[in-house]
Amino acid sequence: MKIDAISIFPDYFDALKISLLGKAQAANLIDFTAVDLREFTHDKHRTVDDSPYGGGAGMLMKPEPWGEAFDFLIPEADSETQIIFTSPAGEVFNQALAVELSQAKRIVFACGRYEGIDERVVEFAKSRASVRMVSIGDYVLNGGEVAALAIIEAVARLIPGVIGNAESLLEESHNDGLLEYPSYTKPANWRGLDVPAVLLSGNHAAIAAWRLEQQVKRTKANRPDLLGE
Ligand code: SAM
Repeated sequence: MKIDAISIFPDYFDALKISLLGKAQAANLIDFTAVDLREFTHDKHRTVDDSPYGGGAGMLMKPEPWGEAFDFLIPEADSETQIIFTSPAGEVFNQALAVELSQAKRIVFACGRYEGIDERVVEFAKSRASVRMVSIGDYVLNGGEVAALAIIEAVARLIPGVIGNAESLLEESHNDGLLEYPSYTKPANWRGLDVPAVLLSGNHAAIAAWRLEQQVKRTKANRPDLLGE
């Protein structure tokens, strides 16, 4: 998968060189490029922001550098490219969307700063690719880079070959609408705390039943909305 991120802080994406995503790039499973939006400015101060029409606090990202960045990355309309504008006003990211995005050939992330991006940029982007506005949760970050990183990691780990043991993806939280059961490793007793006896029993049916019970209990306690409650 080809992934690009347009940002005024491309160094944020250095984190993608670490661990499994670093290995995935080395193995050519992911081809990632961070693009500096300021490369598409033409004034001495490399300006990317201006005051909003109609007044209001803060500055807004001006459209011209974004237009040039899209001209550079997606010179012609390409139905196989997905542009994602990270925004707290977007649809909320979840595992189902991660699965959907993991099928994409190419994703281009547009990372806002300040009070966001001139809305015409979103309209213009639709002439070049499929566009989605995506939030990573109901809170406001300073910029879209952390949001793009979270989405990239959730999507990339679903690409075959990125995670060593693909089976581990099947038993995770959100895969089947429930949160994951509690997990334990050695030693069996640690600081007076025991691993639940059933997990040491070797009885696979009993272990499966206990795990499902724990999944439902945990989901009820932490995320009743997932059970429609
Ligand atoms: N004024 C905007 C609003 O109220 O919707 C918030 C702008 S925020 C300070 C700056 C940038 O951070 C946004 O353009 C977006 O790219 C990013 N951002 C902030 N919170 C986010 C979230 N929850 N999910 C995704 N991106 C977010």
